[in-house]
Amino acid sequence: MAMFTEAPKCQVCGKEIEGGEPVHIHMHYPKRKGFTEIKAYLKTEAQFTCDACFKSKK
Ligand SMILES: [Zn+2]
Repeated sequence: MAMFTEAPKCQVCGKEIEGGEPVHIHMHYPKRKGFTEIKAYLKTEAQFTCDACFKSKK
């Protein structure tokens, strides 16, 4: 995700994910132990889907 900025965005509709909003994350579980780098990992590996898009997929 080269265009990842500080605010995560929904991969479907492009809406910015707001704080406290339910969000669905598609990611691979880190191979390395420990979650101290989880923020960095999320920025590079996670794809977010907002709640509305997640529900509409079903
Ligand atoms: Zn969305």
